[in-house]
Amino acid sequence: MQTTKTSRKAAFTGIKSRVHVVVLRPVQASRALVPVVQSVAAGATEAAKVDGRALRRSLNQTGRYVRQPTNDPVSQQLMDEHGVGYSTNGLVAQMRNDGNIWKQGTVTVKLAKAYGYCWGVERAVRMAYEARQAHPDKKLFVTNEIIHNPEVNKRLKEMNIEIIEDEGDGKDYSQIGNGDVVIFPAFGATVKELSDFRDKGVQMVDTTCPWVAKVWNSVDTHTRKQYTSVIHGKYSHEETIATASFASNYVIVKDLKEAQYVCDYILHGGNKEEFLAKFSKAVSKGFDPDTMLDRVGLANQTTMLKGETEQIGKMLEATMMQKYGPAELNNHFLLMETICDATQERQDALYDMVADPEVDFLIVVGGFNSSNTSHLQEIAEHKGLPSFWVDSAARIDVEKNTVLHKLAHGELRETVGWLTPGKPVTIGITSGASTPDRAVEEVLAKVFKIYDPNFTGIAPKDCGRLATPEEH
Ligand code: SF4
Repeated sequence: MQTTKTSRKAAFTGIKSRVHVVVLRPVQASRALVPVVQSVAAGATEAAKVDGRALRRSLNQTGRYVRQPTNDPVSQQLMDEHGVGYSTNGLVAQMRNDGNIWKQGTVTVKLAKAYGYCWGVERAVRMAYEARQAHPDKKLFVTNEIIHNPEVNKRLKEMNIEIIEDEGDGKDYSQIGNGDVVIFPAFGATVKELSDFRDKGVQMVDTTCPWVAKVWNSVDTHTRKQYTSVIHGKYSHEETIATASFASNYVIVKDLKEAQYVCDYILHGGNKEEFLAKFSKAVSKGFDPDTMLDRVGLANQTTMLKGETEQIGKMLEATMMQKYGPAELNNHFLLMETICDATQERQDALYDMVADPEVDFLIVVGGFNSSNTSHLQEIAEHKGLPSFWVDSAARIDVEKNTVLHKLAHGELRETVGWLTPGKPVTIGITSGASTPDRAVEEVLAKVFKIYDPNFTGIAPKDCGRLATPEEH
């Protein structure tokens, strides 16, 4: 999976002043952690032992911090017009109302039971639209792509919301000044970004998904109780970067193999230099595997494969049980349920779909840098079902009957003659959690056109609006 690269080291190239970060210091007698304010040079790496909860409380106290949508109807209408919300009258909405199935000539389409926009993503996009409406005359910035979807990000840019991206040399926030509006994306922002923007006097709109915040809470607990966080995620993914910034001591493992390596080290020790070289970009500053792995807590990037996170949890639990015995387990291993339902539901629905003998092949729609979409493609490939992952309908050429699609391991491949007009076919379709329904509708329109050159589109039919996250 390819992710947007973000350099923590140079994340704040534009802010040169000294800032205050709330940190925790152990009190000698009790070894408890208490919040203190420490002055650190901006540009330094995140201070260790950050009190994340105190930091978030301090954001609330500024009077310049918003973290809930307002359900503004004008913003909702604009989202509908732009096709960046849930479909209300298109093909996806009609399928949703009709058993997730559609027949168009010789083509049958089965839509996965859980697909597309998760509520955290829809909420984040809505909050960005609402911020634009609430501050029509101000400069608006997002500290990264709001979600991993090219069409949504294009729309935001058209509304003069600037996305600050890492061009390989860190992010430059120097143009953001007092009175501007800064939006934090669905997968959050680092401790340093939050504290620096708090001190900069900007208006903050925090769209961080509550599920991501839940992981931060678990990492906070690890810090308070002096456990090292073992984070199942990708060290360069923005969400994991943000989560790690809330941790005191951490190691990030991307898969079962790396988790096994850590477990072996806990049980049998090993070569410290080799460990640190292997996880050079995936451990906290000053990490010592010989002294910091005796108490561990599990945290996760919310879009990782659920089964894999669970397996890593079991591996760590078994390791600590073997090393310290069942009576001592709770003193050495901490597990809190933080796997996002949305990711889990989309993955479970896809497992059902790949087991459906009627489905001839699959189309996965979602951003090429979307972690959860890559996992959907991975499941299909693993089960041996042909699967074409596209990020938009633009990857399909109707005239040539070709598709430019991505494989789970990252390769972009063009397949010529991928559809066989005239032959009855059943296509399964799903989409990643950051994919608006319209992207799926546009892909299917092109597919139908290849099968039937006379196809002119699906007539809209009002199917009603899906409940917003707050209405669930
Ligand atoms: S996938 Fe889950 S954690 Fe991520 S934004 Fe959606 S609801 Fe939130």
